[in-house]
Amino acid sequence: MRPVALIDIFRAKIVEVAAQHADEVDKQARFPLETINALREAQALSAAVPRELGGHGCGMRELAAMCSTLAGACGSSAMVLAMHHIQVACLVRHGLSSPLLRQFLKDLVAHQYLLGSMTSEVGTQGDTRSSICAVERVNGRFTLNKDATTASYCAYADAILATCRREPQAAASDQVLVLVRREDSTLKQTTSWDTMGMRGTCSPGFRLEASGDAQYVLPGSFADSSAQTMVPYSHILWASLWWGIAADAVAKAGRFVRGEARKNPGTVPPGATRLAEASAQLQALRHNWLALATEFDELGEHADGLQELLSIRWALKMNNLKVTASEAAPQVVHKALQIIGVLGFKNDSKFSVTRQYRDALSASLMISNDRIVGKSASMLLVFKDE
Ligand SMILES: Cc1cc2nc3c(=O)[nH]c(=O)nc-3n(C[C@H](O)[C@H](O)[C@H](O)COP(=O)(O)OP(=O)(O)OC[C@H]3O[C@@H](n4cnc5c(N)ncnc54)[C@H](O)[C@@H]3O)c2cc1C
Repeated sequence: MRPVALIDIFRAKIVEVAAQHADEVDKQARFPLETINALREAQALSAAVPRELGGHGCGMRELAAMCSTLAGACGSSAMVLAMHHIQVACLVRHGLSSPLLRQFLKDLVAHQYLLGSMTSEVGTQGDTRSSICAVERVNGRFTLNKDATTASYCAYADAILATCRREPQAAASDQVLVLVRREDSTLKQTTSWDTMGMRGTCSPGFRLEASGDAQYVLPGSFADSSAQTMVPYSHILWASLWWGIAADAVAKAGRFVRGEARKNPGTVPPGATRLAEASAQLQALRHNWLALATEFDELGEHADGLQELLSIRWALKMNNLKVTASEAAPQVVHKALQIIGVLGFKNDSKFSVTRQYRDALSASLMISNDRIVGKSASMLLVFKDE
């Protein structure tokens, strides 16, 4: 199936399923199972798998189109999909030299496996680039025990990509990624997930105990797979879905303002000026992630492109996108709320933007913006953009 057909299925079917269940998913902080089943039925969970392995071979632009479209219906569903695509991309770009990981990707296509992520860890304070836990490899088998602070939908995932130190003697930043299949592991929930927003991502803490074939440890270092794949896929797909959440709120504000205009023909409702401002902010936000998605796709898989992804210039672009998109999205939703007024503030009105507001507020925390800005500040001390 061509990517264009897949995005059409999103618009025609998956969005409808997600929208139908979004309020209940949010209220009950439950996993959006109906959306994930619809994604499975459309074979959308293999969108990022290359065609030669049976997937759709979608690039960043197509994946971002899916995430942003779904976010207009249900932010949590879109975040689950984005995080799944990010993990698949890491396997595709860094795991294909391992026959077992290659076979796993074929199985993912056949069974539409859902992949979760475990980068957070008790004791590392949100720094994804350091680990306390370590993988041990003996006689072709690995063992890994990890205590994660926040691990989205891991109770529902068929496999999890977990960061850890390369070996028990390795430094905290000498990390690798390990693919932990459900059948190779046990998960014990350690904390709750009763949050302000993104409630349907179901992201409590978990203690993971795993052992399996050592080929499930991804070749290479997480330093490279983080810079070349996990960070760009995360920040571009997250930015696209935060935009989708904000666009949904602005669409409601637009309907509200047009309704007011119809009540008083010949007058411009007071909210129309704010709507024009929100529309401009939304456009800038969209162009930001779309431009970087295009640039990423153009860099491709060639050595020069992969080298560019390791550069300070690219790291700064990713950091800038993450910080600006995560700050802009709740501001735009706030503007939509000011336009709509109390009907936007109510949970049970057709103009409600309460879920969108709460979901958008997670953006600046999901990898703390302060942490990211701190890293950019250090890079700018040595980087000259010429
Ligand atoms: C909706 C959602 C889903 C998530 N899903 C997952 C998942 O599936 N898997 C996963 O592994 N993780 C997940 N996370 C966790 C996420 O990846 C981060 O690990 C987590 O949000 C960081 O938590 P923290 O705010 O406690 O940590 P920190 O990054 O330590 O931030 C705490 C505070 O300390 C300050 N701070 C800390 N360090 C610095 C610094 N160097 N410079 C400046 N200020 C600093 C910041 O002001 C920040 O507000 C998810 C988070 C959210 C919100």
